[in-house]
Amino acid sequence: MRVPLLLVLAMLVASCAEEPGAIQYSWDDSPILCSVSVDDLTHVAPWDTVEEAIQRARDDTTVALFHAHDPGRTISVDAIERVLGLADAAGLTYVTYAELGHAATAPRPAIAFAFDDQYLDSWTAIAPQLAAHNARVTFFVTRVYKYDAHMLDELAQLAAAGHGVEAHSVNHLHAREYEAAYGVAAYLADEVMPSIQILEDLGYAVTSYAFPFGESDDALDTAVLEHVQRVRVSPGSCPD
Ligand SMILES: [Zn+2]
Repeated sequence: MRVPLLLVLAMLVASCAEEPGAIQYSWDDSPILCSVSVDDLTHVAPWDTVEEAIQRARDDTTVALFHAHDPGRTISVDAIERVLGLADAAGLTYVTYAELGHAATAPRPAIAFAFDDQYLDSWTAIAPQLAAHNARVTFFVTRVYKYDAHMLDELAQLAAAGHGVEAHSVNHLHAREYEAAYGVAAYLADEVMPSIQILEDLGYAVTSYAFPFGESDDALDTAVLEHVQRVRVSPGSCPD
């Protein structure tokens, strides 16, 4: 089953990438952003898509959107270096998700690179690598209510270095499954709003929400966008 599943995933990613601008943000304040995973240790990283998106960002003054999870476990340090090197070679600016608003940042060829979930030690370990590239990324954090003081301190240090901190749900559940079982309002109340509130209580201004697994639908997007400026989804839930 393993190989066919990977092939299907690769085809899904490839079909998304064939659509013009599918994983590009065009500085048009469109609130639904489509990002692809570049984890290379748990999946086949879509390098053709990555290179095409970076070239398109440079040529079309758009933003290439990528994300990964746990450096050293889901994404290799080499893969991070490859993404940063490609972005640098193309002359892209590193932007956080808070900087994707047209009013906040003049349109420029850019990359919005993100790391998801709760891998504070691994993220802290790659901070010097990011700094060496003057790369600022966004950390979409989940299960923040479980963080101990050390993890919260690591997150604060990353933010102090210029990286973004944004919301990625309370318990990392599948949004469409939760919606089917309990409704959109319950998903909002249980998984979205507390994940924003806990970050704001810690002093982070939340602008964006990344759906776990990149899974969403129109009703979920609409509901969440009443509370944040933009949502992040992945191929399979990306806008047409
Ligand atoms: Zn996640």
